[in-house]
Amino acid sequence: MKQAQPPAVSPRPSACPGLWRIVAARDGGICRIKLPGGQLLAGQAEAVAEAAERFAGGVIEATNRANLQIRGIGQDHRGLVDHLLAAGLGPRDAAGDDVRNLMLSPLAGLDPAMLLDTRVLAGQILALLEGTPRFHALSAKFAVQLDGGEALTMLEHPHDLWLSAARFEQRTWLVFGLAGSPAGGQALGAVPVEQGLGLVQAVLDRFLELATPEQARMRQLLETCTAERLLEGLDIRRDDVVLGWRRPALAASWLGILQQQQGLALGAAPPLGRLTPAMLRAAADIARRWGDGSLRLSPWQSLVLTSLEPAHIEQARDQLAALGMLCDPSAPLARITACTGSAGCAKGLADTKADAVTVAARLHPAAPGSVHLSACPRSCALAHVAPATLLARAPGRYDLYLRDARLPGFGRLRASDLTPEEAGAMLDLPTEHLDD
Ligand code: SF4
Repeated sequence: MKQAQPPAVSPRPSACPGLWRIVAARDGGICRIKLPGGQLLAGQAEAVAEAAERFAGGVIEATNRANLQIRGIGQDHRGLVDHLLAAGLGPRDAAGDDVRNLMLSPLAGLDPAMLLDTRVLAGQILALLEGTPRFHALSAKFAVQLDGGEALTMLEHPHDLWLSAARFEQRTWLVFGLAGSPAGGQALGAVPVEQGLGLVQAVLDRFLELATPEQARMRQLLETCTAERLLEGLDIRRDDVVLGWRRPALAASWLGILQQQQGLALGAAPPLGRLTPAMLRAAADIARRWGDGSLRLSPWQSLVLTSLEPAHIEQARDQLAALGMLCDPSAPLARITACTGSAGCAKGLADTKADAVTVAARLHPAAPGSVHLSACPRSCALAHVAPATLLARAPGRYDLYLRDARLPGFGRLRASDLTPEEAGAMLDLPTEHLDD
């Protein structure tokens, strides 16, 4: 069947990059490829690597929403987009590109602790988002999380709607909340898992019905409309068991050898979220030779290679490490995120990527769980507040904030106007001494 000719540019305006919306930055165009539940087939990974070389400067980024983006794109936007579409990296409908925002665990369907294999429901939710024209009016940032109770799952990123699997009375339910995250959000109700798709549809319909044009996100709507009103009339369970539910946090690293229910996976992170085409090709090759032929992107800006043959997993890890991928969770760079910074973004006050390397070289093994360098207050490289944030105030100068749940923004200002070396030295302390 002949495919409809794809558009040359995105059919809708937004400041966010998309597949067709190549947004200009200081270092060239940016194209964002949204991956279904973070999944990328080996052949698609190779297509992205080739696209980054042929149509851009070879820089590929893993994003904190488990997507990929290509940076430094030159003039041939059409060639790039056609190349990605030919690899099956587009949406079912061009107008549905932006709404493909559904976060899953990178071990969805495989995690030993999971209560629910989320993949079937995730496929239905994505089909609903992409195939329902009225949902294409949702903001490009409007996002849903489906948490199957896995140990390896992002619990801190806020989502407009989050759903978490829970067991009540020997039955699997989906507890849900709005404008928050499973870790810190208030559960507002629950439905049996079979009604999960209907719940998502009903909540999105209500949102579109009640939100004004200025209210693009759920948190904005909730400033003028109570959650009770938004949920009024929906068939949901709202008793003390559900409202008192808290998501248990299960310790899991996203790097190194990871346990699956059956078999093993391997987590590897490109330093500061930036992949070279060689890294992506090597990961694709390993996935095809020793795994299930696919990669998964994680919200920690890393890759997870699933269902690897145990006999080859150490060889796979060594191959990725030889290309500069981080497979050891204690590696200082594995605990640092940095936004694009002034080298690639006109809003950036400092070269955060370069400064992050300086900070990492000084980072204490017991320093805060992660450190985030942001070149402006938008903090677009991290969706939640890091334990320590270095916010640029000028080239090579940062203010250090420590997360404090009682305070808005990045937390408590700990020190001002630090060089990366001074910040590294200050963070070169176990966490408990940072307040001294
Ligand atoms: S946080 Fe600011 S400087 Fe950094 S990439 Fe985002 S907009 Fe640019």
